[in-house]
Amino acid sequence: MRGAVLYGSRDLRFEERETPKIIKPTDAIIRISATCVCGSDLWPYRGIQPVAEPMPMGHEYCGIVEEVGSAVRSVKPGQFVIGSFFASDNTCPNCQFGYQTSCQHREFVTTAQAPLLRVPLADGTLVATPDVPSNDMVPSLLALSDVMGTGWFAADAANVTRGKTVVVIGDGAVGLLGVLSAKQLGAERIIAMSRHESRQKLAREFGATDIVTERGDEGVERIEQLTNGIGADSVLECVGTQQSMMQAIQSTRRGGYVGYVGVPHGVELNGEQLFFAHVHLHGGPAPVRRYLPDLIKLVWDRKINPGKVFDMTLPLDHVAQAYRAMDERRAIKTLLRP
Ligand SMILES: [Zn+2]
Repeated sequence: MRGAVLYGSRDLRFEERETPKIIKPTDAIIRISATCVCGSDLWPYRGIQPVAEPMPMGHEYCGIVEEVGSAVRSVKPGQFVIGSFFASDNTCPNCQFGYQTSCQHREFVTTAQAPLLRVPLADGTLVATPDVPSNDMVPSLLALSDVMGTGWFAADAANVTRGKTVVVIGDGAVGLLGVLSAKQLGAERIIAMSRHESRQKLAREFGATDIVTERGDEGVERIEQLTNGIGADSVLECVGTQQSMMQAIQSTRRGGYVGYVGVPHGVELNGEQLFFAHVHLHGGPAPVRRYLPDLIKLVWDRKINPGKVFDMTLPLDHVAQAYRAMDERRAIKTLLRP
């Protein structure tokens, strides 16, 4: 079997790897129907996060169960399944509270850019669709594995409910799906911060009512103008830089909520600024597993189409090209078909 392996900065190879097999009785092997490159894969790809040794890549996946271990009860061969980037038992206290990405037995899934994938803790991790989906639905189901669930968590953590004014910082796939999530949750006004025309267009299609192109202090000022000097009820931070995090906190009204899902890189919060900001902060690695059943239903009933964030599709063996396209921002998100 061949799969994607990152050797160092911008050195991504598609090469021979060991074919995964059942190791523990709680494992499942799935045949990947589609996988993709994540915005977070670009951190090590760009050398911002060092690569100590060759690193197999990929944590977004959906596909057909090929084989299950002897202890697996909830999924069986032939079913189409989706799982999150963290395998979780879905039974420990953290899982029961709905934070499966903090599962006491969590395991990071890191080898999904390949034709076959071993998923640990299959019973707790994988959710089957009602039937094998038609081909056109696969991109939207794949999006649930990470970006859609993460956008949804950002909106949920930012307490988006009916009638709210929402700001979304970040116009990558997660930010755009944060817009879609805010719309689904009933937000009245959704201000998307984006400088890229194609992304602005998709943001509007997903429900954005306003677009702001300014960033940093100018961005904060613009949000202040748009909200009569008050700030937004809910702000979704989907980038993970110092600037975006401060922009999120400063764009939130007193008593409002920041939902932050951008993986922080060098973010440091000033205690005093935080103290006087009077905002709720809630975020972290999205517990995608919590939302999978509901989001699968929304896709299955064709109420949402998050697969629209994939604006490029390539065969899996062109995976290096997929990274390049996203690195150079020629693609929002690239879907890969084995
Ligand atoms: Zn758990």
